[in-house]
Amino acid sequence: MQNVSCPSCGAPVVFKSHASVMAVCEYCKTTVLKDADAVRDMGRMSDVLEDYSPLQIGTSGTYSGTGFTVIGRIQLRYEGGLWNEWHVLCDDGRTAWLSEASGQYTFTFEKDGGEALPSFEDLRPAQSHVLLGQQFFAADIRVADCIGGQGELPFRVGRGWQARVADFRGGKRFLTLDYSESERPKIYAGEAVELDQLKCQLLRDDDTVRDSAGKIRSKVEPLNCPSCGSSVRFVPGVTREIICPSCRAQVDTSARIAVVLDAGHRMAKAETTLELGAQAKIGNAAHEIIGVMKRRDDEGTVWTEYLMYHPRGGFTWLIETDEGWFRTKVLDDWPQWSGGGNAKLGAQNFSKLYDYTAEVVFAAGAFNWLVKAGDKVQVAEFKNGSNRLAAELTEHELTWSLSAPLPPDQIRAWFGTTVKAAKLPPKTSILKIAKYFVYGLLIFNFVPLLFSFGTTWRVLAFAAAAIYIPAWILSLMDREAS
Ligand SMILES: [Zn+2]
Ligand SMILES: [Zn+2]
Repeated sequence: MQNVSCPSCGAPVVFKSHASVMAVCEYCKTTVLKDADAVRDMGRMSDVLEDYSPLQIGTSGTYSGTGFTVIGRIQLRYEGGLWNEWHVLCDDGRTAWLSEASGQYTFTFEKDGGEALPSFEDLRPAQSHVLLGQQFFAADIRVADCIGGQGELPFRVGRGWQARVADFRGGKRFLTLDYSESERPKIYAGEAVELDQLKCQLLRDDDTVRDSAGKIRSKVEPLNCPSCGSSVRFVPGVTREIICPSCRAQVDTSARIAVVLDAGHRMAKAETTLELGAQAKIGNAAHEIIGVMKRRDDEGTVWTEYLMYHPRGGFTWLIETDEGWFRTKVLDDWPQWSGGGNAKLGAQNFSKLYDYTAEVVFAAGAFNWLVKAGDKVQVAEFKNGSNRLAAELTEHELTWSLSAPLPPDQIRAWFGTTVKAAKLPPKTSILKIAKYFVYGLLIFNFVPLLFSFGTTWRVLAFAAAAIYIPAWILSLMDREAS
C-alpha cells in the first residue's frame, strides 16, 4: 500500500496494489499517475455514468477460495451497450478483472501466452482458436470507448481511450484478448461466474441504487414514453432499450433520462397470443412478459418471441412457432462446434437442422440489447430429440441458446386468463389428423373413383365418416373438459 497526496487538491490518494499505475482522486476526480516514486496530475477523469451495478469500489468477495476487494473500475460504451470492468485486488496480491455486462459476470486474470496470436482485424465471431492450449470460440469482437473511470487502475486510461477487445468462450471458460495498447494483445483468462457464488460484501443496496440512479434495479417499473407519453414497463439497469407499444418509438433507458433513439422507423402493430405485461405464475414466482418480437426467416415463415423477466431468475424466452411453443435460455456454458453439422453440449450431441437468416419484423416493449426492425442474424439450428440448440451470428457477436418444447397447456397454466385463448392451438389436434386421413383416403382412391364412381363413393364416404366422426366426438369431449 502506498499513500500519496493528490497533486491537485491535496486529498490522500491510496494505491493498494503495486500493479496500479494510476488512480482517480475520489474528491476532485484528478487522474493521479504514479511515476517513478513521484505523482503527476494528468487532468480530470470523466465521472462514471450512474448505473445500476450492485458492485462498487470497496465491495469484497471470494473467488475460488481467495478473498478479493474491488479497487477500481473502467466504464466502457459500444454501440450496443455499456459495460463495467471492475479492477480487483486479491488477498494473495494478484489483481484480476470482474467484468459486468447486462447482469452477466466473468472473472479473469492476466496470463502470459508465448504462442502466435491472431491479429484483431482477422478475428470473426464463431472462429475457433486454440489459446493457452485450449479450444475457444470467438464470442464478440468490439471497439469501445472508455467513458469514465474510478479508483486504481493498472494502466493509463482517460478521455478518448479506446478498448479493442475480443472475447472467447469454451464451455464455461472465458478469455479476452485485449489489443488496446498494442497489436500484440494482452491475454486475460478465467470463467463465467454468478454474482451469488462470489459471496460479496458491501454491495450497493436497493436504496443506494435508487438514490443515485432514481429507480430500483431489477424491479419492473413504469416509465412515460418520451415520445407519446404513454406508460411503458421496463427493468431499470437491466433492459436498456424499450420500443413503446403505443407509438413504437425506440427509447434508450440507459441514461438517467430516457431518450428517443428513433421515432421515424416505426413498425406496424402486431397481434400476439401473449401481450406485453402478461403475468405468469411459475412455481411461486411472478414472471412478466416485458418484450415481444416477431422474426421472419428466408422462406417468409414468421414466429413470435416473448422476453419474460423475473428479478431472481433473469430472462427467459418463450417462442411460439408453427411447430409449437419452446422455452429458451441463452447459454453461458458454450457447446463445442467447429462450424460443421454437429455440436456437442455437455454429453449431448446435436445435429444440424437448418441454416437461415432471421430478421426482426416487429418489436415492442423492453429488451436487454438494441433491437430494431430489419435487424438480421445468421442462425444455425441443431436438434437432439425434441431439444433445439441455436447459434445466432452477427458481424460482431455469436450467442448460443437452448430450447425445449413447451406444451400449450403449460402456457395456459402459467398465464391463466391473460392468454388470448383463441390464438392458442386447440388442446388436441386429433380432428386435424382425422382430416388428413380423409384427404389421404380421397387421394389414394382418386383413380377408382373415376372408373366406378357409384360404389367407390359410397365406400369412401362411409370410411371417411368412420374416421372423422369419432375424432369429432373426442374433440368435443375434450373441449368440454377444458
Ligand atoms: Zn484531488
Ligand atoms: Zn410512445
